[in-house]
Amino acid sequence: MNLLIMGPPGAGKGTQAERLVKELNITHISTGDMFRAAIANGTEMGLKAKEYMDKGALVPDEVVIGMVKDRLQEEDCKKGFLLDGFPRTVEQAKALDETLKELNIELDGVINIEVPMEKLMARLTGRRVCKQCGASFHVIFNPPKEEGKCDACGGELYQRSDDNEESVGTRLNAYMEKTQPLIDYYKKQGNLKNINGDQEINKVLEDILAAVK
Ligand SMILES: [Zn+2]
Repeated sequence: MNLLIMGPPGAGKGTQAERLVKELNITHISTGDMFRAAIANGTEMGLKAKEYMDKGALVPDEVVIGMVKDRLQEEDCKKGFLLDGFPRTVEQAKALDETLKELNIELDGVINIEVPMEKLMARLTGRRVCKQCGASFHVIFNPPKEEGKCDACGGELYQRSDDNEESVGTRLNAYMEKTQPLIDYYKKQGNLKNINGDQEINKVLEDILAAVK
């Protein structure tokens, strides 16, 4: 089974991707890992990407898609794959479609994990860090025994500035704006599987499996 997974920050995409590849026995292709491997192995595309990255420039689509194309032809992708972190734009999605066609590979589904904005906000702004020892807590997922106090050392807990509502809101809005055209693109193709990510983790996985089978 060949799948693609998308989801906003805080939607639990990483957790679901990890469990999904285990459950379906398919290969996880996260773009970050793919970049690192291509560069470490010194592939033609990897070296090209490194040139841009060393200059602090954005790696152009043709290089990224070249890397994806190389990666999809590796042995471990024959049993199926889950593409994670790519494509990010409609242009990349079109290029991916062409590549898949060339390689005679069909995409079986595009998983889109949906969580209401206010829930994402609560998840992403809930982190609290200890001023004294740096231990990390979460008001929803990992609350300290005593509010505002570190379990480990009793130090005062605070919210980092990049976890505040304003920064998180900016990040979420940027994601939504960039991703909506992509969602529309796959919806038009009839390949989109919207999954309710605002449920218990196991139930989310169950829904994904039901949607792609
Ligand atoms: Zn502490």
